[in-house]
Amino acid sequence: MKIGTPKEIFEGEARVAMTPASALQLQKLGYDCAIESGAGLAAGFSDATYEEAGVEVIKTAAALWKEVDIIAKVRQPNETELKRLNGDKTLISFFNPAGNEEGMELAKSKGANVIAMEMVPRISRAQKMDALSSMANIAGYRAVIEAGNNFGRFFTGQITAAGKVPPAKVLVVGAGVAGLAAIGTSTSLGAITLAFDVRPEVAEQVESMGAEFVYLDFEEEQQDGAATGGYASVSSPEFREAQLAKFRELAPEVDIVITTALIPNREAPELWTEDMVAAMKPGSVIVDLAAEKGGNCKLTVMDEKIVTENGVTIIGYTDFPSRMAAQASTLYATNIRHMMTDLTPEKDGQINHNMEDDVIRGATVTHQGEITFPPPPPKVA
Ligand code: NAD
Repeated sequence: MKIGTPKEIFEGEARVAMTPASALQLQKLGYDCAIESGAGLAAGFSDATYEEAGVEVIKTAAALWKEVDIIAKVRQPNETELKRLNGDKTLISFFNPAGNEEGMELAKSKGANVIAMEMVPRISRAQKMDALSSMANIAGYRAVIEAGNNFGRFFTGQITAAGKVPPAKVLVVGAGVAGLAAIGTSTSLGAITLAFDVRPEVAEQVESMGAEFVYLDFEEEQQDGAATGGYASVSSPEFREAQLAKFRELAPEVDIVITTALIPNREAPELWTEDMVAAMKPGSVIVDLAAEKGGNCKLTVMDEKIVTENGVTIIGYTDFPSRMAAQASTLYATNIRHMMTDLTPEKDGQINHNMEDDVIRGATVTHQGEITFPPPPPKVA
């Protein structure tokens, strides 16, 4: 079978789902590989580097979708792309199934099999295919770099001939995958780093990374904002008040706030209010990684950078992985390659779409003319 990757058509998207290195691995599984001409350019991979890796370069998207059996891409496909599917094709991509009923219906009507990368179950065995985590890791890192780029001082404290420089103070709100990456980046740059999460079990991880976990004036068992299965759920009003009171206390002290707090299937909780922004020092920076879900900061404008009257920069970009397209493509293409390994147990270049396999079943949203989303819960941890 042939696997191919088209150029991403979402405006500004620089990532690509196949790299020359991942193509070599896919060939070891027995597949022929193809790429649309120019698909890797924005991520730093020229057509020539693909050709050197034995990848066929196909001139147009239409020809690529027609010729290949398996399409690997990054962004949720649009209608034109979905119309190019048929019963002999498998699509592997981010798909946003919970908010993309029309896309699923169209894929189903075409009889195509669709594997949605955001649906890979978060179990140990599937970590190598967990594209949500690999992209969140990049977003967390890049959020700190972006903050630094907009901050007029050093992260680390210094004693120089020209004077003593205090270290920056960074607060990370939400210590999931992105938050932990932000904490690691911030501490490695030398900033004093504080972090908060409604899940108290992450305190140890936060502290092991050299940051300080922010505890609330709350009974320990109530620190847990009713967390379930590793994910957060909505906090009680009392807990939220205690959280906001703590943030109000910290607002005048911190230089940089990175917010990453999300609750599955909901708008992001609003945690950094207008008065907290007003209490921050001029020159402070907020990077809101929850911008796509409405933002954790009241004043965030999605996909924009604004500066408030009191001189606080608020960044609401939603494309951090694409801003590091070479790294993001390398990790995403590796996630896809691992998915293909599981789909090809015989290494014979033939997909075995085994719906008995927890991971494959969990990620499949259409299969043989049926919508198979949402999946049953995985059987193993
Ligand atoms: P996420 O993106 O859903 O949320 C980010 C963080 O925000 C979470 O840590 C959450 O607790 C926190 N949060 C929510 N409301 C908050 C509030 N009001 N104040 C402060 N923080 C708040 O999380 P994620 O990064 O996707 O990780 C979710 C869970 O999945 C974690 O337990 C993580 O360890 C786990 N995980 C497991 C695997 C695996 O086993 N393969 C892979 C990735 C993540």
